[in-house]
Amino acid sequence: MLVLRNARLIPELTEDYEERYGDVVVDEGLIQEIRPAKSVSAPENKLIDMSGKTLMPGLIEAHLHLDLCGKNTFEENVEPDSYRIMRCLRLAQENLKQGYTTIRDVGDRSNITIGMAKAINEGMIMGPDILTSGMIISPTEMGNDYFGDMYAEANSPCEFTKAVRRQYQLGADWIKIMGTGAVMNPGGEPGMPIIYEEELQAAVRAADYVGLPVAVHCHGTEAIKMCIRSGVRTVEHSSIMDEECIRMYKSSETSFPMPTLSPMVNFLEFPEDKPVHYVEKAKKMIDILIEGQRACKESGIKIGWATDAGVYEGSHGNGIYEFRARVNLVGFTPLETLMQATKNNAEILMIDDKVGTIKCGKRANLVAFDGNPDETIEALSDVALVLKAGKIVRGHLL
Ligand SMILES: [Zn+2]
Repeated sequence: MLVLRNARLIPELTEDYEERYGDVVVDEGLIQEIRPAKSVSAPENKLIDMSGKTLMPGLIEAHLHLDLCGKNTFEENVEPDSYRIMRCLRLAQENLKQGYTTIRDVGDRSNITIGMAKAINEGMIMGPDILTSGMIISPTEMGNDYFGDMYAEANSPCEFTKAVRRQYQLGADWIKIMGTGAVMNPGGEPGMPIIYEEELQAAVRAADYVGLPVAVHCHGTEAIKMCIRSGVRTVEHSSIMDEECIRMYKSSETSFPMPTLSPMVNFLEFPEDKPVHYVEKAKKMIDILIEGQRACKESGIKIGWATDAGVYEGSHGNGIYEFRARVNLVGFTPLETLMQATKNNAEILMIDDKVGTIKCGKRANLVAFDGNPDETIEALSDVALVLKAGKIVRGHLL
């Protein structure tokens, strides 16, 4: 048992408890009780004084690539799987230490994160809770070869069905599909659809049949509409939206935008160490991307939170960069961005029965910050404590 005493709580992220301060009791990996502040006593070694700290549900990073770390992909492609698995584990643990207690990996080489996630989820090794797609299913497209074994290519409804079943057989939690060109693929045009609607429908049908949700890499307007029509759960990036996209999202209960602002912001802020095609494409897209997010905010569309970590060096666990972009460039309030990264993501990823808010019976995945991140987003840099399933992984004697 552990008592987190006199913690400052965020009402929007805390269920069935009204006060601003409280004692949170954790046991057997779960949140057991939320009681009035300073009312619960416990032996000294079971008590953590949370005065001055804000306690939140653990952050959920909904789009990253543990098997990428922003280095030259040609050099990375020849690293042995065994080395890359160890690096994936290290990056997963770094994410956890920054408070990301759940992460979703949407694309690795050779499905290496599927087994690693299984080992973590079984408790064999410490790491965040992981959902993973393994390899990405993609039509044959410009630049795919650049990423070694990251793409499983499929080129007909039948091949998409087979590829989805293969990922399911291997133990993937999600199916990831390429719907448009990519910023990082040389020759790829981010706005252009690269998949036929029949192929996407076949993939969603095959995934749905075995209970797997689908995430689609999708920058462009037409492909975003195709995703919403086809029942894709998360439309990754969702960068170039027109009014019809906004209307379609607004009336959909099954498809959600999963924007990632930080790569574009980073490519433009530090162009000197990036390939030219990254920077050129980012220049074309950044204003449209921000406008689209403002439209989502004005329309009250539920959006997810993700960083696409892995695409530039130092991006893993650097979520503050994404929070800043959403607050400073789009105009979301700090609280809105925290809700996106916890409650919204849990609902969108369909794990809100276990995580996403502080509630009795939910998993004790918790993070605490010095100060008030719901008022000042920079407070997210001051991680004071991280608990994963009730175990302390950062702070307090560690
Ligand atoms: Zn990505």
